[in-house]
Amino acid sequence: MYSELYNQPVSDRTLIACLHCDLLQRLPDLAPGASARCPRCNKELWRRREDSLNRTLALTLAAAVLYVIANSVPMLGLTIVGRGAATTVIGGARHLWEDGQEIVGVLVLFTAVIAPALQIGLMLAIVLGAHRERPPRWVGALLRHHPTTRIWSMIEVMMVGVLVALVKIADYATVIPGVALFVLWVLVFLLAAIQASFDPREVWERIEWAEGGARTAVGDRAAEGTS
Ligand SMILES: [Zn+2]
Repeated sequence: MYSELYNQPVSDRTLIACLHCDLLQRLPDLAPGASARCPRCNKELWRRREDSLNRTLALTLAAAVLYVIANSVPMLGLTIVGRGAATTVIGGARHLWEDGQEIVGVLVLFTAVIAPALQIGLMLAIVLGAHRERPPRWVGALLRHHPTTRIWSMIEVMMVGVLVALVKIADYATVIPGVALFVLWVLVFLLAAIQASFDPREVWERIEWAEGGARTAVGDRAAEGTS
């Protein structure tokens, strides 16, 4: 009945197809920190991270706190001929919109504010969900969409742009770096650390199956038939 809707899983959970060259192979049980490579194309198939879930949770919570700070305090202050002004990241995007740079303003808002919020929020939900004894299926859905938020999250690109602009206007105005500027730099490294500590394979192994785990794998059924 289910075969009309789903493919047939194999019973051996250590079997894996290389994402690069499709070679089917068996993964060894790895010690923390060790990695397995495809014997044909040498692509890294899996690296077992040490205490992945807890470390990722700690880093993501720290990133969430920094994100809130980075968006609520000024990023830059400018003093030019006695007049001063300060702006936050969101304020900067609004200024761009008001100056007729609507597309740039929306891009800044999306890549530096919305996408990072989704990236941190989804990761927090995934790790908290995976901490449950039987992680629910929505954890899998979030896990599938998380890479998209990561691609669009471009705080580091904005930071490079801000640095270039700072150097250019330094001759005409006094620039006062705001707290958010430093917080955002730390956030860039934290987001990279989250990516380095997170092990999606560990989460996938724990997630409930699409039909509630009721389905027996092909290999299991074959084994039952012969016994
Ligand atoms: Zn390969």
